[in-house]
Amino acid sequence: MENKKTYHILSLSGGKDSTALAFFMRENMPEIFEKLELVFYDTGCDLPETYDYLNKIEVFLNKEITKVKPEKSFDHIFHTSFLIPAPHRRYCTIELKVKPSWQFIYKRIKNTGEGIFNFYIGIRADEAWRKGISPKTDKEKELINPKYPFVEQNITKQDVEKILTDNGIFYPDYYKWRERNGCYFCFYQKPIDWINLYEHHPDLYKKAMYYEETGRTSYGKIFRWCNYGTLREMIKKENIEKIKNLSALKSKQQDRKTPKLIDLI
Ligand code: SF4
Repeated sequence: MENKKTYHILSLSGGKDSTALAFFMRENMPEIFEKLELVFYDTGCDLPETYDYLNKIEVFLNKEITKVKPEKSFDHIFHTSFLIPAPHRRYCTIELKVKPSWQFIYKRIKNTGEGIFNFYIGIRADEAWRKGISPKTDKEKELINPKYPFVEQNITKQDVEKILTDNGIFYPDYYKWRERNGCYFCFYQKPIDWINLYEHHPDLYKKAMYYEETGRTSYGKIFRWCNYGTLREMIKKENIEKIKNLSALKSKQQDRKTPKLIDLI
């Protein structure tokens, strides 16, 4: 065990939490930060804002990010089966993220076959219920050692905001119009995210539209990325308006449900 080489890895998602963790570790865990490798699993399908943010992180931290790409692009995978990924068929995550992450690990240990990978994960203390990395097989347990510095140090969302602001990097630009990072066609998007994608990146919206119109489900039926309707229908003027109104109404209701501290006092 003592002879095994230890690797320190922080997987950046292009979102705020993992980015804040990198800055937090530079400040509070300098010895580890020196050895820390920043890794981004590049699906090739992230938003342009995400790639810009990663460039910014490299400059601000003066540290290179290792970009791990899948063996086959999403486009290639899609065209072999025309199956569209969906919540119950998340081959996108397996092919674009999980497999490349194992390839990355095995590449690092190819000479010895052994090593310990300390994975630093940006799950915050106020969301500690979230599932991080849970090694399943004996080999995974032997190799992977997940670490949660934010949970251990009781770092919450507000602290994350402060870390990003204090370091002058702030939030990624896509936060101006959507909260989730990940693939531009992610099926977890809300209808309003799709409309915002259309307005900010019409070219990517049209690509998603192409996948939707040529793809199928495993039952051979036509697939819809979003329950609201087809992407083509959604961008009709009247539907854009409806979706925007609905989203504004929902956020108002949400605001009413979440009492502000000042109201409680
Ligand atoms: S972001 Fe969405 S579409 Fe992309 S890999 Fe993750 S689940 Fe799949």
